[in-house]
Parts: sequence; structure tokens; C-alpha cells
Amino acid sequence: MHALDLGDAEAVHLPGGDFRLDGGTMFGLVPKALWGRAAAPDAHNRIRLSCNCLLLKTSRDLVLLDAGFGERCSRRERAMYGMDGGHTLRGSLAAAGVAPEDITLVALTHLHFDHFCGCLVEGPTELAPLFPNAIHAVQRGEWNDALAGRSTMRSSYRPEELHTLARQVELRFLDGDGELAPGLTAFVTGGHTRTHQGFRFEAGDHTLVYPGELIPTRTHLRPYWNMAYDMFPYQTLTRKQHFIAEAAAQGWIVAWDHDPDAPWSRIVQDGEHFVARDVEL
Ligand SMILES: [Zn+2]
Repeated sequence: MHALDLGDAEAVHLPGGDFRLDGGTMFGLVPKALWGRAAAPDAHNRIRLSCNCLLLKTSRDLVLLDAGFGERCSRRERAMYGMDGGHTLRGSLAAAGVAPEDITLVALTHLHFDHFCGCLVEGPTELAPLFPNAIHAVQRGEWNDALAGRSTMRSSYRPEELHTLARQVELRFLDGDGELAPGLTAFVTGGHTRTHQGFRFEAGDHTLVYPGELIPTRTHLRPYWNMAYDMFPYQTLTRKQHFIAEAAAQGWIVAWDHDPDAPWSRIVQDGEHFVARDVEL
């Protein structure tokens, strides 16, 4: 289990499940002759991905960033997405010695199934929140778009499950950028969805940033290597480059939501390019 000691806080990588998506879709305009060298596809043209959830431990809060696809996927989904049943968010929390009931805040980048569904588990009569005592924070625009099914992909959102969660936990809706807890702020990135958000966490001398789908893996650091899933591709293109330049200039630690092999990196400029380097504190 990877963890970062940030002085007065700790960040813990919680693997929330491994899966596979079509490599062509993950890299949009980029020809397979290029992306196939950077991310080797399997026989179905899919590449390896992980749901990397993040636990932030402070003296007053236990915060979870994103919840992964959870444990309720159908056999068909498991086959289609190559979910191997290895890591679960619940298992990762247990390994970190944290009870789900102790999580105080769950902050979600957006509500696509591979970020939201881990919030709910099978209960005796209906789905139950895995984090019953946590405030669940999301952008109001994302919530409304999810309920209205405003998406380029039919299967991305689960409106019924959003209603189920809303009946059982306290929700906090953000309208744009804002503070979620001491040291933790949300910032709207757009791009992937209209109000997709990332998170910035300041602790000690360190800044840890979770940009979500703005840069899902290290391979997406290249300017034009963006997902065909993005609803607003030009926003992704421009805002990602701005984010990367600032992350490199400020020395931020950047946590990747879907990188299968690295929970976080620093970004450094190498000639014309920006590249990821291992984090050494
Ligand atoms: Zn995702």
C-alpha cells in the first residue's frame, strides 16, 4: 500500500479495482501506431486501467476522493471491462485500517459509474451507502446532468442509484470552486463532463492534486492524448496544458485516477515535453 507522509496529514492510495477500456477510446485522436507503443493493448484492443481512490487523513477528517466502480458490476460488465475482481475499495480500506463508517467526507470528481458506484453496497432490502456517516460532495451541475442523463454515453450514469444515495446520506452540492475541508479545495475542470472537478490538498509544505479525468494516466500528459469520452474535448486540451505547466512550476504531487502502475507523480519539464517522475519526499 502506497502512502505519503505530508507532515500534518497523510495520503493513502486505495486501489478501487482494475479494469480495461478500449485503447482507441482512451486516446481519442491518437493513432494506434502511437498509443499502442505507450500502452500495450490486449487481444480485445483494451488497455489496463485502475480506479485509484485516495484517502486523506488529517487530525479532524478522513476524506475519500472518488469511490471506483464498486463490487456490484454484472457478469456482462465484468467481461466487457475486464474487471479482474482483485482490488476492492472495501478491501483497500481494511488494509489501511480504516472502517467505512469513520469516513467523514466523500468527494467525487464526477458521477460516472467507475467513480461513483463504489459509494453503494448491497443492503438487506435496497442498496446501502458504504460510507453512511460521510457527507458526499459533488458539483450541483454534475448531479443535475447525471439525473437528466446528459451524457455522450448511455451507460455512464446511474440515476436510480443517485436517488438511493440521496435518501440515505447528507449531500453537499458545490456551485463552482470551493473549500471542502481545511486545506482541501475543489476546482472545476470541465472537459470530461460539463462540471467535472478536481481536488487540491495543502498539507505541510506539500500540495497534492487529484485532477481526475483531466489527466487520467501518465500517458495522458501529452497534449493531444485525450479521451474520446470527453464531452468538451477543447476544454480538456487547453485546461490540461495549463494545469500541467502549473503543476510543474509549483512542484505539486499529482495523483492519477486511472494509472494502472503509479498512484502519483511529480511533473517535470524535459525539453519541450512534460514527463512524470516518481515522488520522493
Ligand atoms: Zn473514469
